[in-house]
Amino acid sequence: PSVPSVEALQHADVADLLPTPAAESDKYRRGVVGVVAGSARYPGAAVLAVAGALRGGAGAVRYVGPGGDAVIARFPETLVSDGSPAKAGRVQAWVVGPGLGLGAPLLERSRELGEGPGVDEVLGSDVPVLVDADGLRGLDPDAVRGRPAATLLTPHAGEAAALLGVPREKVEAERLASVRELASRYGATVLLKGSTTLVADADGPVRVNPTGTSWLATAGSGDVLSGLAGSLLAAGLGARDAGSVAAYLHGLAGRHASRGAPATAYGVAEAVPGVWRDVAASS
Ligand code: AMP
Ligand code: MG
Repeated sequence: PSVPSVEALQHADVADLLPTPAAESDKYRRGVVGVVAGSARYPGAAVLAVAGALRGGAGAVRYVGPGGDAVIARFPETLVSDGSPAKAGRVQAWVVGPGLGLGAPLLERSRELGEGPGVDEVLGSDVPVLVDADGLRGLDPDAVRGRPAATLLTPHAGEAAALLGVPREKVEAERLASVRELASRYGATVLLKGSTTLVADADGPVRVNPTGTSWLATAGSGDVLSGLAGSLLAAGLGARDAGSVAAYLHGLAGRHASRGAPATAYGVAEAVPGVWRDVAASS
C-alpha cells in the first residue's frame, strides 16, 4: 500500500477552529460533556478527564462513575452521578475509558452481567463518543462502525497494538500505517498518541501534531487530553478537528506547564486556558 500523505495543523487553523460562545449562548449550546472514567482504584483519572473537559470549554460536565467525591473536591461545578450513563441526562458528547481499571476478564464478565461501567451503553448513544484507555480493551469494531455519530479513539502505542493484535514495537515502527489501519477497521477517527501524535480517518491525509513535548510523558496526561477533545466534540467540532485541535492545545499546554522542567497532568490541564488565549489572540 502507498504511504498516506500527511498534513500539519497551522496555528491559524487552530485559532479558526476554537469554539467561542456566541453572545446568546447558554451552557447547553456551549456543549455538555459526559465523562465515564475513574474507579475506586483510579479516582484521579476521573478528576483529570473532568479537568480537561472544563478547561477545554465545556458548558457543563456530567461525571458518571465512582469517583464523584474526588471530582467534586476539585471541581464543585461538576454534575456527578454513579448510576448508568443513560440516566445521567442529555449530553452532546461522551468521553469513556480513563482509569476504569478493567482487565479484559473483568470487562467480559461485567458485560455478561449487563453491569459494565457504561462503555457499551455510551457507544449505543446517538452523540459523538471518545473512547480512551480501558474503554478500548476488547473494543468490537461492530460496536463502533455504523454509529449514528462520530467516534474518536485515542490509543497510545500499547493500546493500538492490543487493538491490532500486533506487538507494540510494530506499531512504533509503523505509526502511520497503524493509525490508518485502525481507522479503517473501526470506521472511526483514530488519534494515536506518542512523541508525534497522529490523527487519521479511514481516508484522507493523516494530521501530524507539531506541538508535543516529552514532558507530557507523565501519568494522567492522556486523561486530560481525552477530556479536552471531548469538550471540543461537545462544542460541535468533527472528530478529526476535535482530536487535532485538542492535541495541539495539549502539546502547547505541556510546554507551558513545564517550561523545561517536570510538569504534572493536572498542571497541563490548568495551562490550557493560557495557551488557548495565546492561540486565539494570534488569529
Ligand atoms: P497516555 O499514554 O494515555 O498517558 O498519554 C500520554 C500523553 O502524553 C499523550 O498525549 C502523548 O501524546 C503525550 N506524550 C507521551 N510521550 C510523549 C513524548 N515523548 N513526546 C510528546 N508527547 C508525548
Ligand atoms: Mg492513557
